[in-house]
Amino acid sequence: MGAGIVGLSTAYKLSLSFPEAHILVLEKENKVAAHQTGKNSGVIHSGIYYKPGSYKAKNCKDGRHQLVEFCTEHGIAMDICGKVIVATDEDEIPRLEAIYERGVENEIEGIEKIGPEELKQIEPHVKGIAAIKVPCAGIVDFGGMCVKLRELLESGNGKVEFGQEVRQIKKEGDEILVKTKSSVFKTKYLINCAGLYCDHVARAAGIKSPVKIVPFKGEYYELRPEAEYLVNNLIYPLPNPEFPFLGVHFTRMALGGIECGPNAVFVFKREGYGKLAFSFKESLESLTFKGFWKMAAQHWRMGMDEYKRSFSKKAFVKGLQKLIPSVREEHLKVSPPGIRAMALQPNGEILDDFYYEIIENQIHVLNAPSPAATAGLAIGDEIVKKVRTEFGL
Ligand SMILES: Cc1cc2nc3c(=O)[nH]c(=O)nc-3n(C[C@H](O)[C@H](O)[C@H](O)COP(=O)(O)OP(=O)(O)OC[C@H]3O[C@@H](n4cnc5c(N)ncnc54)[C@H](O)[C@@H]3O)c2cc1C
Repeated sequence: MGAGIVGLSTAYKLSLSFPEAHILVLEKENKVAAHQTGKNSGVIHSGIYYKPGSYKAKNCKDGRHQLVEFCTEHGIAMDICGKVIVATDEDEIPRLEAIYERGVENEIEGIEKIGPEELKQIEPHVKGIAAIKVPCAGIVDFGGMCVKLRELLESGNGKVEFGQEVRQIKKEGDEILVKTKSSVFKTKYLINCAGLYCDHVARAAGIKSPVKIVPFKGEYYELRPEAEYLVNNLIYPLPNPEFPFLGVHFTRMALGGIECGPNAVFVFKREGYGKLAFSFKESLESLTFKGFWKMAAQHWRMGMDEYKRSFSKKAFVKGLQKLIPSVREEHLKVSPPGIRAMALQPNGEILDDFYYEIIENQIHVLNAPSPAATAGLAIGDEIVKKVRTEFGL
């Protein structure tokens, strides 16, 4: 279930591998890509950042290649425009070197270390002392990709049913009963790709996973048209290695416009996009999880900075000015946020890599963080492989 990019890519790949099967995607909203997939930065990640040998490293690169082919074939808005990862002072050079080395180990095509002159030619308004040029990164319309995946699925042996929120999953003989508010569905096999609610769905199926999803909002501003000249393509800072986010960056969007962000703030409601959104039940769930407090104790300083940036446009702009000193508050207008499903372990550690739990005839995707949108089609292949080996099909 779940008509985000992971669920739809999985359903599409299953439909190609098992043309005799009936594939049904249950989605609680009334459209595809309603949450993380449709509210993200729209960046095709290269795979440079990830630990060599990890699922992320492998699936990001493979997924990127498949994505480019898919979008080219189906006319989805996409541009392999390249990006720069910029060091703005000497202290950051060792981190730049470390990321470059990772990129080499991950065999990311065409990466190059460049100096301030070449950086100026690529992005004239950026102030940096060195950078990594990543020509294979790009931008895409992930929402458009999901619409096409649904169309392809439904022109074959699959269907997406909207308005079906899965609430209960029960084994009955060799079948699985999936209950939603209005219907009961029977199936032999089930794959949970419910994004922000994947742990709830797993729990509804009786899985006692130690991993819990904690929601982190990413807020954006957009450059007003008269300030768009400041950015050509994708401009990233060096990420803080202790945090799983990439830092606020400038992103040209595939459907037009330039976004700045996202930050990363803990929120009290998983799909609470408004500034004051609150759910008592979901807050209690996060705040009574000991992993949450262990993480908070470790990262409180960073968390406070992020809250400051959330409530003060001035503080947000100050972060952006590290990369582009001439950007000003009046250049920016608020743009809609997205919310990340961050998987936390009871010891407070953030689960970094993609993660699945499997019980009889069920696969639960319990962590699909960035770059899962880039990697979607490769994750679909990975799940098909698991279906074959684990379900003996
Ligand atoms: C702010 C932000 C920026 C990001 N930037 C990038 C980027 O630039 N590039 C990149 O590659 N990745 C990026 N990511 C990460 C990427 O968007 C996610 O990893 C990816 O979209 C996850 O896809 P998904 O299908 O698992 O989740 P989702 O897209 O959230 O889909 C899950 C679906 O399940 C449905 N669902 C939930 N519960 C139920 C239920 N009980 N019954 C039925 N349906 C249910 C939801 O309605 C939803 O449609 C970003 C994420 C965020 C939030």
